[in-house]
Amino acid sequence: MPRRRILVTGGAGFLGSHLCDKLLTLGHEVVCADNFFTAQRQNVEHLLNNPRFELFRHDVVQPMTIEVDDIYHLACPASPVHYQRNPVRTIRTAVHGTLNLLDMAREVGARMMIASTSEVYGDPHEHPQREEYWGNVNPIGPRACYDEGKRCAESLTVSYAMQYGTRTRIARIFNTYGPRMHQDDGRVVSNFVLQALRNEPITIYGKGDQTRSFCFVSDLIEGFVRLLNTEEDPGPVNLGNPSERTIKQLAEMIIELTGSKSELVFKPLPVDDPTRRCPDIGKAKRLLDWEPRVSIEEGLQHTIDYFRATEPAT
Ligand code: NAD
Ligand code: UDP
Repeated sequence: MPRRRILVTGGAGFLGSHLCDKLLTLGHEVVCADNFFTAQRQNVEHLLNNPRFELFRHDVVQPMTIEVDDIYHLACPASPVHYQRNPVRTIRTAVHGTLNLLDMAREVGARMMIASTSEVYGDPHEHPQREEYWGNVNPIGPRACYDEGKRCAESLTVSYAMQYGTRTRIARIFNTYGPRMHQDDGRVVSNFVLQALRNEPITIYGKGDQTRSFCFVSDLIEGFVRLLNTEEDPGPVNLGNPSERTIKQLAEMIIELTGSKSELVFKPLPVDDPTRRCPDIGKAKRLLDWEPRVSIEEGLQHTIDYFRATEPAT
């Protein structure tokens, strides 16, 4: 593939930093824009001396124009703890941010992929979730700032494609985990792994019978690249691992893999916490020839090794 100049917004975050790595490995030039709201500088520190990598601080709520060929628009807090801290700002980021990037894509003629989410399906009545399903989202609950923000981002994206012919892609990302997740972002995998490594109680919200389907980060990033490079716009595409398990099973697996002495403790279930979530990835298999390759055991082991290396020895 010829070298392209590519903007990654939210590029110093968990997914963004892995995407920057991948694009550089493929020989491209990468411009990473991030306001460092939930970013970790160490995620991209190893790239700072690479002449094909450029990092700049920018809030996507402000308009920008940079001459690039492609845009991966990831900037947005992703963990419920972070996106609920300042809900208005989350909506601003999801809506104004996407609008600004679409304007830029239109102006410079770039292709653009947005990072949408399985949250557009809300607490789903259809299972597994196919792209045709419209979802069951509470528009005024505590998750609404994120869920509705991302739904609006999708609406904006398809509108730019229809009205202006902007070349867009929509990735509906299901729970993804791996090295470089933020220690304090409150998501389940990072919480459980850190609690297990510290032999602290593992905090299960509710009874732990809600399900999620966990995708390892390298699989997801491969899906991003394939999606942006499709010939035609395939509409929204689910990217995730269809291997579904309960949160209690996840906790037990992490205790076993870490050899932890942690016990399970049960805490109240957050409002509107989806009861189950599993992607139908038929469309991604068919159109992108993509499916996850990393098993949950292998992916968790990489994640555990990462957090073990970042934890002070006890
Ligand atoms: P993350 O919090 O690690 O990364 C988000 C990045 O965006 C951070 O670097 C943050 O500083 C930056 N950011 C936030 N607001 C910004 C703003 N206004 N301007 C510029 N930068 C800003 O989270 P992540 O898991 O890497 O998520 C990346 C994207 O993928 C998000 O859009 C998220 O909604 C989406 N997503 C992630 C998952 C997942 O499981 N990881 C699932 C569904 C969707
Ligand atoms: N969860 C949990 N304990 C934790 C963190 C999360 O039981 O310490 C649960 C949470 O209630 C949800 C699931 O794990 O049912 C996934 O949570 P996460 O915040 O990772 O992502 P979500 O899919 O809810 O956006």
